Amino acid sequence: MDFSLTQEQIDIQDMVRKFARKEIAPLAAEVDRESRFPSETFAKMGELGLLGVMVPEEYGGVGQTVLTCCLMAEEISWACASTALSYLDHAVLCAHNLACNGSDEQKRKYLPDLASGAKLGAIAMTEPGAGSDVLSMTTSAVRQGDEYVLNGSKTFITNAPVADVFLVYARTSKDAGPRGLSQFIIDRGTPGFTIGEPLKKMGGRGSPTAEIFFRDCRVPAANLVKGENEALGILLGGLDVERAVGGALGVGMTQAALDKSIEYAKQRQQFGQPIIMFEMVAEKIANMSMELEAARLLTYKAAVLCDQGVRCSAEASHAKLFASEACMRATSEAVQILGGYGYMQEYEVERMMRDAKLGTIGGGTSEIQRLIIAREVVKRTM
Ligand SMILES: Cc1cc2nc3c(=O)[nH]c(=O)nc-3n(C[C@H](O)[C@H](O)[C@H](O)COP(=O)(O)OP(=O)(O)OC[C@H]3O[C@@H](n4cnc5c(N)ncnc54)[C@H](O)[C@@H]3O)c2cc1C
Repeated sequence: MDFSLTQEQIDIQDMVRKFARKEIAPLAAEVDRESRFPSETFAKMGELGLLGVMVPEEYGGVGQTVLTCCLMAEEISWACASTALSYLDHAVLCAHNLACNGSDEQKRKYLPDLASGAKLGAIAMTEPGAGSDVLSMTTSAVRQGDEYVLNGSKTFITNAPVADVFLVYARTSKDAGPRGLSQFIIDRGTPGFTIGEPLKKMGGRGSPTAEIFFRDCRVPAANLVKGENEALGILLGGLDVERAVGGALGVGMTQAALDKSIEYAKQRQQFGQPIIMFEMVAEKIANMSMELEAARLLTYKAAVLCDQGVRCSAEASHAKLFASEACMRATSEAVQILGGYGYMQEYEVERMMRDAKLGTIGGGTSEIQRLIIAREVVKRTM
């Protein structure tokens, strides 16, 4: 078993790390404070090829692997969790999803702009009444001639206030349950499609979230992805990659919490010595480091399996679940190590702790990840 990265991956990791520390990290506190989407950062990420990380070169992307995407996401997340969240939704849940499932015509029309950052992407599955039980969604799409007419609403949609291209799941067959869903590409500005005000959130405040509404919204049949009632396959086919990269977001934030903790514990003096010398503080650092390593290994393993074309729901859920819960523990311990200063906005770890919470909710809650893992490992014994 070889744990080393290729020279190309090391070079990309180095490039993104430098970019994230120079361009993204300095804005992290501001975008959180002002609930402001860092559009200038996304323009620069587009120029560097980060936004089309898994989009094939023929459609304007850089055609990299899931593992390389995880390395990038980790660096972005280290610098700013909000930016990383919007990045995940744009580059993976929208652009990569379309690269995997779109027709050649759809890919030619949308992917070059998504890869360059000329357009921003979003994905819309969750509804007010269908969260964990997302396959029970009720937003409907009815075919009328060369068009589909959509009615319904979606909620908690990342990037909605700023996105141009939305991948929207809707019900095309009332009686077929999970097999009655289809995916559509919907452009901002389509008549009958409206976007709500940005929602006010605990964390991830630089990544705007909103409800979206469809009222007799007419979409050309050419915007149907794959075929009618084929969205279940699209949805299930993308989950492993999405959860592996979701794990990478937790890894990046955990690394940031650990780095801040060590830096502070080395210089903060109490009882005449740096607090790192106290064993109870050192123990927290050791635990954070151990969990970080485990989260990273689980994430890279899931990513490599995805790159090998192996279905890996249990491994991808291991990565997402463990990394997001380790991240929650690490950011909370970072606040503890910084004491009263950790509780103050100026010292950043309070923001990290607020940002970390989303990892255990978005993209399938921790409880749902446990259900998936249990189901999968039991199935493997049959
Ligand atoms: C900031 C943010 C950004 C998001 N971005 C997007 C996006 O871009 N696109 C999108 O489509 N969605 C998005 N989501 C939605 C997200 O995926 C859902 O919030 C998530 O799947 C949970 O759904 P819910 O909030 O309705 O919670 P619910 O499903 O109502 O769950 C409530 C609680 O019940 C538990 N629960 C539910 N079912 C079970 C069960 N069977 N067994 C045990 N426990 C259970 C849950 O784990 C949770 O603790 C986003 C959410 C947030 C907060």
